[in-house]
Amino acid sequence: MTQFRKACAAAKRFWKYWKAKKHRSIYVGIADVCNAKCYYCQKGYDNLQQVRSTKKPFMEVGFFEKLVRHCKAAHFLDETGVLGLYSWNESFLHPELTKIIDVGTREHCLMSLASNGSIRPKLPENFDASAIGNISFSLCGFSQASYDKIHQLDFHQIRSNIEWMVRAFRQHGFFGFLLLRFHIYQFNVSEIEPARRWAKSLGMQFAPYYAYINDPQKSWQYLQQTLPVEYLTRVSKDLFMGYHLYRSKKVMNGCDRIAVAWPDVEGNCKVCCMNNTSIGSIFDFSSPEEMMRAKQAICQQCLATFDFNMWDEINDDDWKKRRAGKLSFSYVSQFLKTCFLKKTR
Ligand code: SF4
Ligand code: SF4
Repeated sequence: MTQFRKACAAAKRFWKYWKAKKHRSIYVGIADVCNAKCYYCQKGYDNLQQVRSTKKPFMEVGFFEKLVRHCKAAHFLDETGVLGLYSWNESFLHPELTKIIDVGTREHCLMSLASNGSIRPKLPENFDASAIGNISFSLCGFSQASYDKIHQLDFHQIRSNIEWMVRAFRQHGFFGFLLLRFHIYQFNVSEIEPARRWAKSLGMQFAPYYAYINDPQKSWQYLQQTLPVEYLTRVSKDLFMGYHLYRSKKVMNGCDRIAVAWPDVEGNCKVCCMNNTSIGSIFDFSSPEEMMRAKQAICQQCLATFDFNMWDEINDDDWKKRRAGKLSFSYVSQFLKTCFLKKTR
């Protein structure tokens, strides 16, 4: 397909997404491994404690294809929805990431990717990125000092990887949005502005939000004041938990994650990105309604306990604009530029 026809197909996909009021989306955990050691994330904490997962590390391509087809047939995923290729962990570690994306492209899905930026995926010459709707990169700061405290990865390498990936994905026909998620900690507030400028220079939207305890059990302990002292002491030095604790709760008239399916590497659905409780294999559910019934008791308790939109962005206006599909001038110009980019080796 020529670049022009790909651009038209991508625009059509985005338009369908923006036009639809409700989306049927799934987020597939194609990897069960992460190379970072984020203290406040369940996976990172396990990495620090050297706790190994008993699940297989990566989803096989054939299994992924079967899962996507089942999700389409059972209406977990429709043409206005998103096929997310992550659920925490680091999906760019998947050795066959581009083959997974190829499946999504063949199945006419609008895909969403996320990464901590530490891995440059191998993009074959004929790789087609035009069905990817957005790519998010998450940063725990904008200096090596901040990275030493959280991810424990090489910040300069990550910065250069992200610059490379922005170019490389665009050159392979990626027309979607780029998002820089900046996790705000007490020690990196002065790094927000440099990161914002860098994001802008790369044509990325900037989405800062307060880091939080990404572990339902520990969040629960925090609210119950039963966190171990050592952990709580660290929380009090690094996070802005007061923001989550004291801001007013939204009207609890539901949670849009309840209708989303979150199958892991083995096809078992967890409740959502914030709750890993397994509710059964995606192949055992014949409809989203059946899956939602399996989540009901857990979600009711969650809605009564948490402000489940903990990760709301500080810059709420940007988020609302993205959801409403308002296109910035810089995005439109990037879309047009992508139409004329030549692949480089
Ligand atoms: S927060 Fe993300 S990068 Fe950090 S350990 Fe968890 S999954 Fe990995
Ligand atoms: S209500 Fe809570 S547990 Fe249920 S999907 Fe939403 S965030 Fe997850």
